[in-house]
Amino acid sequence: MDKRIVVVEDEEKIVTMIIASLEREGFSVKSAHDGISGLRMVREEAPDLVILDLMLPGLDGFEICKNIRMDPRMASTPIIILTAKTEECDRVLGLELGADDYVTKPFSPRELVARVKAVLRRTNWKKNTGVKFYYKGLLVDTEACVVKDGEREVELTPKEFGLLVCLLRNKGHVMSRQMILDSVWGLPASITTRTVDVHIRNLREKIPSLSSLIVTVKQFGYKLKDQE
Ligand code: CA
Repeated sequence: MDKRIVVVEDEEKIVTMIIASLEREGFSVKSAHDGISGLRMVREEAPDLVILDLMLPGLDGFEICKNIRMDPRMASTPIIILTAKTEECDRVLGLELGADDYVTKPFSPRELVARVKAVLRRTNWKKNTGVKFYYKGLLVDTEACVVKDGEREVELTPKEFGLLVCLLRNKGHVMSRQMILDSVWGLPASITTRTVDVHIRNLREKIPSLSSLIVTVKQFGYKLKDQE
């Protein structure tokens, strides 16, 4: 594996631990210790993934996250944020701003490596076309644009289809309405997060077996249940 990772974190001990555990897995890792040099490093290195602490001197992790997402060259770079256990709102905001996943401090090297690999796997899928998803008797073929619920073919609009694929790709993870909008609708001017609710309702109606598997996360978004 020759994936390159940039770590932006001001706590020396954590940086050392992250670098050691990722290098052991064959990743090549660079680190920055404040927000401004961190953002510059992400721009210059164009890494495969960014690990981003939220509380940083100079420029905080939220700002870096926003900057990365607004820059077309970096917009799809996966980001894992590091948050304190108690700061749930930080985590939510980080995900709203486009982070792909989070790890709460304190964390073990193993946990971090597992998250990094999972996020890279997930985001690799996004780049590929022609993926087939099998989920609870449902087959979704993204190349043929076909959805089958058992033997029954389900007719979905392009956005409903995109929404379903988005949920499947992020199975087991809570997606905020904004994240769903960005991923399925791009960056529209006139569409609101309410649109996501309407399309979720349509999906639940058209594929009844999915109805209870799409979990509404109060005041936040949706999650497709992971396989039990
Ligand atoms: Ca910090």
